Amino acid sequence: MEMITKAPRGTGDVLPADSHRWQHVEQTCMAIARDFGFKEIRTPVFEHTELFLRSVGETTDVVQKEMYTFEDKGKRSITLRPEGTAGAARLLLESGLYAGALPVKTAYVTSCYRYEKPQAGRLREFHQFGVECFGAASPVADAEIIALADTILKEFKVPDVTLYINSIGCPTCRAEYQKALKAYFEAKKDELCETCRDRLERNPMRILDCKSPVCSEIAKDAPKILDHLCDDCRDHFEAVKACLTAADIPFEIDEGIVRGLDYYTRTVFEFVSSAPVLGSQATVLGGGRYDGLIEELGGPHLPSLGWAMGLERLLIVLDACGYKFPEPPACEVYFAPMGDAAAKACFALANQLRAGGVSAETDIAGRGLKAQMKYADKLGARYVIVVGDNELETGDVVLKEMQTGETSPAKLDESLYTTLYNKALDRQLSGVADLLSEVAE
Ligand code: ATP
Ligand code: MG
Repeated sequence: MEMITKAPRGTGDVLPADSHRWQHVEQTCMAIARDFGFKEIRTPVFEHTELFLRSVGETTDVVQKEMYTFEDKGKRSITLRPEGTAGAARLLLESGLYAGALPVKTAYVTSCYRYEKPQAGRLREFHQFGVECFGAASPVADAEIIALADTILKEFKVPDVTLYINSIGCPTCRAEYQKALKAYFEAKKDELCETCRDRLERNPMRILDCKSPVCSEIAKDAPKILDHLCDDCRDHFEAVKACLTAADIPFEIDEGIVRGLDYYTRTVFEFVSSAPVLGSQATVLGGGRYDGLIEELGGPHLPSLGWAMGLERLLIVLDACGYKFPEPPACEVYFAPMGDAAAKACFALANQLRAGGVSAETDIAGRGLKAQMKYADKLGARYVIVVGDNELETGDVVLKEMQTGETSPAKLDESLYTTLYNKALDRQLSGVADLLSEVAE
């Protein structure tokens, strides 16, 4: 039975009391992205496996160890998306958007699937907010997507987060660099972990991303990519840094950042939190430029870039620093009927109020008054109206404010809408007055 009542390892539910936190985070990210000109896209949870092999890269950990790949009933190899860029790039090609007005700026909230060892901030199903900007070669584009990330993290007041940037060059300068790297690691081959010995042959830059203590210690003294950049790549990197400085976005250079996916070129960056709750899952957001990806997928040469933020990691940090989420809207009015006739009248009236945008509930469990009052309290209903035979007959009811216990008269007809509306307006006005007096102080 446990299989039925326990979700698979590395997955999580969002409970009713928690969903407003997710909505707030997703809506805030999307609204800020919109200010920067990014429009939402939605792509399928699964794609042809080939898409990820081609884009993410065959030598990456994601492809080698982490993908959820299966054969469907039509004998096609299908993979649950491990990240959002490949799907967005496929959408760009399939829709023909690449041939229209450029750049194309997209944003998404997606679930992602990676077979990893679950721990805090590392799941098998996790969620990302991400952006992709297709067809923008200028270093200003790099600075723009970094500024977008910076704006979002500032909006959430994420404390102690540092932006690290690096350039990993283009295929031309990287070929030289890979040679130098290979020579360096070759000399220490015996000390490297087994995976890295394999990486040495296939893709030595991956060693720089290894999380084993021994390999990362060896990697510290490895040749530096920034010493191997070609002139164009160096100019690009200098221009990105100058833009960030012009926009007062602080950053640090970290030549250890190579990113885990093969499609990156030139600028790569990460926003890393020092919140202890994240442990070694400290990278909240990561991204970079991928100038060769669209061509690699059969499209035109189209310099592009993007980033993605792990929403579980963001929420962990927000909780740890006591971020105040806006209160989720509670039930405005609860009708507590006594008897069948009252239940019918309350149902109709609640429906009418909801049509006008006032959240209203009534008894649908056939319970007595005492149980109903308890339930209204749990709901956090602002007002309760008890309706018995007497109230039905006269139409006169009492509006009881649950928090203060204050009561006021009301009518059980269309005028109730106006009464509730005016009360809500009064509350808003007094909220504004409070705010003004706070500002005046
Ligand atoms: P890491 O080095 O932590 O494994 P990554 O380089 O594999 O991260 P990306 O592919 O760049 O991560 O994904 C972007 C963001 O998505 C990460 O910075 C992180 O916030 C989040 N993320 C990645 N993998 C997971 C996961 N398994 N569970 C939760 N969040 C994740
Ligand atoms: Mg990873």
